[in-house]
Amino acid sequence: MNTTRSQQITGPQTEIADTDIIFECPHCAKSMAIDRRGGGLMISCPDCGTRIRVPEPEPLELAPESTVNELIASTDPHVRNLAQSLDHSREKVQQLMARLEEARKRRGALEKLRISDAGRLGKISEEIAVIQSSIDRIAGLLQDAMADHADDGSEW
Ligand SMILES: [Zn+2]
Repeated sequence: MNTTRSQQITGPQTEIADTDIIFECPHCAKSMAIDRRGGGLMISCPDCGTRIRVPEPEPLELAPESTVNELIASTDPHVRNLAQSLDHSREKVQQLMARLEEARKRRGALEKLRISDAGRLGKISEEIAVIQSSIDRIAGLLQDAMADHADDGSEW
């Protein structure tokens, strides 16, 4: 095909783009391509010099909706799985935080009791040690859970 891209509007560029208007000179049938912005302009045929009005461009083709939906469908399960596992982790962390808060309150209550009943000091101290270790364990689990998501940019 002997198509020449018009240089009257686009300058030295000679590549024919997908969006170019392709048309023929009505006088000599010379095939030409012009940038779509040139639609409706008057130009001179490069071969015969006839003044030609450039036809208006076809509307630009957009990706069919079905293609976009297929793309979403293929991406969505992976995204959904990630979101679910993140939600699960958040739930777990919230549960652990609730337990931690509960354990702290219990420790506080026992410490008050210790002050008022010195006779039971030994037993209460043991109980406090058990609660403290469980707080430490929960705090450790929380740190692990947060470290798992520390590098994925999530907000907690
Ligand atoms: Zn011509």
